Amino acid sequence: SPSLVWLRDDLRLADNPALRAAMDRGEPVALLYVLDEESPGIRPHGGAARWWLHHSLASLRERVKELGGSLTLRRGPAERVVSQTVADIGAGAVYWNRRYGGAERDIDAGLKSSLREEGVEVASFQASLLHEPWTVTTGSGTHFSVFTPFWRACLALPTPRAPLPAPRALDGLTPPPSSDELDDWGLLPTRPDWTGGLRETWEPGEPAARARLRTFLQDDVPAYDRARDEPSAGATSLLSPRLRWGELSPFTVWHEAVEAHGTAGFLSELGWREFAWHTTFHAPDIATKNLRRQYDAFPWPRLSPSHLEAWQRGSTGIPLVDAGMRELWHTGFMHNRVRMVTASFLVKNLLIDWRRGEEWFWDTLVDADGASNPFNWQWVAGSGADAAPYFRVFNPELQAKKFDPQSLYISQWAADAPTEPIVDLAATRKAALAAYEVVKRTA
Ligand code: FAD
Repeated sequence: SPSLVWLRDDLRLADNPALRAAMDRGEPVALLYVLDEESPGIRPHGGAARWWLHHSLASLRERVKELGGSLTLRRGPAERVVSQTVADIGAGAVYWNRRYGGAERDIDAGLKSSLREEGVEVASFQASLLHEPWTVTTGSGTHFSVFTPFWRACLALPTPRAPLPAPRALDGLTPPPSSDELDDWGLLPTRPDWTGGLRETWEPGEPAARARLRTFLQDDVPAYDRARDEPSAGATSLLSPRLRWGELSPFTVWHEAVEAHGTAGFLSELGWREFAWHTTFHAPDIATKNLRRQYDAFPWPRLSPSHLEAWQRGSTGIPLVDAGMRELWHTGFMHNRVRMVTASFLVKNLLIDWRRGEEWFWDTLVDADGASNPFNWQWVAGSGADAAPYFRVFNPELQAKKFDPQSLYISQWAADAPTEPIVDLAATRKAALAAYEVVKRTA
């Protein structure tokens, strides 16, 4: 009986343990991707993510075909669709790589038990995190809430396993299981088509991801520690969407970076990704609930839609903020330093709830994921794990002087932006700190 590999956040052939297990079983293999926007608790992808997903699936489908296999696309609640596919092809085994969001884990656990009851073999594998959340614990057996000891504990664990090579051929099913047409899923916007900037910037798919990793390790890694905070330097890896969609595995990035003498600084950024998932595993409602519950008392003023819109459009009159928001809108990406500055400005100068910012990033980032995005928003807002203290309000003008001293980034993205700020930085900072007093009293 054939084996079924259910692909999710692992759109790759290399270092894919679920695929490897299926091939080792020695029977024909079917690959399945399910577009699930219906199961309870599943957060539908944002617009930029849908664009990435479409192209990454198109690339993978092509490559699977070249190797003799097929990637089946089906849409609907995952539990129903996977069970149906198992029945359609008479699969004897189903394999997947584990995911760590709350709703996703519920779905996977439900499927595992129902399929097993029907006598289907089911196995799941570690592929998307170097260290699974429950394997990293404090001396007293609890999870970590501070990054530095978390990462120290990770580094003390056995070295992450070596990545698995990609298969050279796939033994597919004849005929292949029926599949939706990717174009029918409507993942790409049509009217208006706002994805021109994404197309100029990115080439989704595993081959381009590997090429980018190689270039980064050859050319950019030496300057990483010195220049990573400068948004115009092009010194960071740009691997976040690759890791988000699993076009590259963190094991591949880890081992190749170590071989290329990647710095501890770069490796610890992978650690922040791990920490975001570690935190999310233990607080699955991270996108909606303050991790520090005393922040529930924060007296957010009534939302000003015009301020929110000015922030979204990059017309706040604060050059670094506007440059960041325009880079995001155009490319689906924003440099990390500028993400921190734009987020701080929304929360601490416009006094807009971090959740509104998180939602906008969710819709516009190609690397938006259910852990890193809310985790970092809560970090900036002060409500998160190991967060920046609330009174740390980034001053976007000083940040620009320090990290974009020649205004290269600002002139690239916001040369024609308005120059009259919509708020006074000093006065709004004071108002934010006064509001924070309420949280302090509740603590
Ligand atoms: P590099 O500096 O080359 O880092 C290498 C890898 O480490 C990244 O690709 C990423 O996978 C990981 N990484 C680096 N910094 C972080 C971090 N702070 N948290 C988690 N992982 C990190 N990152 C996302 O992947 N998805 C998001 O949705 C996301 N939302 C963010 C929202 C805000 C408000 C902020 C401040 C940061 C957010 N980040 C998010 C983290 C970070 O900005 C990006 O991962 C980084 O800019 C990606 O660029 P890079 O690949 O060139 O990074």
